[in-house]
Amino acid sequence: MTQRISHWIDGQLASGNSGRTSPVYNPATGAQTGEVELASTEEVSAAVAKAKAAAKEWRHASLSKRSAVLFAFRELLHNHVDEIAEIITAEHGKTLPDAAGEVYRGLENVEFATGVPHLMKGGFSEQASTDLDVYSIRQPLGVVAGITPFNFPAMVPLWMCANAIACGNAFILKPSEKDPSASLKLAELWKKAGLPDGVFTVLQGDKEAVDAILTHEDIAAVSFVGSTPIARYIYETGTAQGKRVQALGGAKNHALVLPDADIDMAADAVVSAAYGAAGERCMALSVTVAVGDAADPLVDAIAARLPKLTIGAGTSPDTDMGPLITAAHREKVASYIGAGADAGAKVVVDGREADVPQDGFFLGTTLLDEVKPDMTVYTDEIFGPVLSVVRVDTYEEGLELINANPFANGTAIFTRDGGAARQFQFDVEVGMVGVNVPVPVPVAYYSFGGWKASLFGDNHMYGPEGVNFYTRGKVVTSRWPDPATSTIDLGFPRTR
Ligand code: NAD
Repeated sequence: MTQRISHWIDGQLASGNSGRTSPVYNPATGAQTGEVELASTEEVSAAVAKAKAAAKEWRHASLSKRSAVLFAFRELLHNHVDEIAEIITAEHGKTLPDAAGEVYRGLENVEFATGVPHLMKGGFSEQASTDLDVYSIRQPLGVVAGITPFNFPAMVPLWMCANAIACGNAFILKPSEKDPSASLKLAELWKKAGLPDGVFTVLQGDKEAVDAILTHEDIAAVSFVGSTPIARYIYETGTAQGKRVQALGGAKNHALVLPDADIDMAADAVVSAAYGAAGERCMALSVTVAVGDAADPLVDAIAARLPKLTIGAGTSPDTDMGPLITAAHREKVASYIGAGADAGAKVVVDGREADVPQDGFFLGTTLLDEVKPDMTVYTDEIFGPVLSVVRVDTYEEGLELINANPFANGTAIFTRDGGAARQFQFDVEVGMVGVNVPVPVPVAYYSFGGWKASLFGDNHMYGPEGVNFYTRGKVVTSRWPDPATSTIDLGFPRTR
């Protein structure tokens, strides 16, 4: 019996009528568990009309009222972490602690957005000219949309909707059709938190819904997170329609390990960052650049750790790494291992030979050494549990390699030398940098985003740049008539 997964429109579940659906699987068993509706262009239009009406009202809500809703939503989310984690694991496959972790990272964004009265403050210049004041205010955009990837079905929507709603907009979420259910739980909790109907909408769908969003005249801004080709498409199409767009793309994150690094610390960090969530993280470390003498001990240390990882269902407490999202994706990831070997990479650990559950979309961990920059395992975003090691002789050579890569989401340096770390932070052309920290996802009061092919647009996501993205500035220049000419008796002396 598969579950029907529908939309959330105007404060309630809404069955679709497009006649189109997409299967949803439990990646740990390979069984189809659901069928998600795919919205038509007409359904998108109808939902946008509801959101537009709600946005008109919501922008009148006082900052304290909005903040109160955010505080209530924060409490509800906090109380439902385990339930949301179970929903995520059932459709995505990641382990339950990892799924709970993503909810907590999303929750940080809600906590940040509770500070909306402070975040929306403008500036004021008294007496900018004689008897003339100038001040700035920030106002919501109206209806804004978020299109999100499969790999963080709760966290990435929360990156967007917390700030968007706090700033007074109505938010339409188009989740990934691969794991759509977490979005409906978020919708239910927003409603319980007192958010008026229509301010948070979920439209399930695929390209048709996305295109309808991108071309709808009543949607002012689009936030996107996903792969680079689609991010580029979203940015080009949305901006051509006059919309504000922030589109975060794919990644190929490098760790630079210097010869003075603590090799055990680096190996632990690289293993968790490369294979956590089966490598299906945009901040996964997928290339380790080993400098000089670091290479041999590092490869040995990583290889020694891999057999200790337990691969299995994300619901099992012993599991370290779950399955991949679909059978097709598993096959694609596995094909890169063969391509790497054919191109001359040394297969130190081959995930295709691992003893993994036969049902479900499992693949073992793979470690490739002596990878060269022209191999597809290096050039392509694999988005699976495959780690490539590139050997270089010097820091400069490693830096040049990282800066030449078209992706520039995250990177990390491992060293004991503060001067080297500071030099790397200065030199590297990547949006998020870790120093002995493998996954440098910024906390919610900074903003998240890469450079180059990892982000199209000006504003990074969430944090202060998120507030900027979801509001537009207005500047008022104001002069009042001389109070001495007023006929109203104030009952106290005028100061001018
Ligand atoms: P994806 O690009 O396939 O899908 C993302 C969204 O776009 C989904 O909602 C999907 O329905 C929609 N979409 C897919 N194809 C489309 C098309 N042809 N036209 C219009 N819309 C389309 O990405 P994914 O496989 O769900 O997620 C994995 C990717 O996301 C990886 O590349 C990963 O690096 C990236 N990602 C990036 C970040 C970041 O912060 N930069 C974060 C998470 C994931």
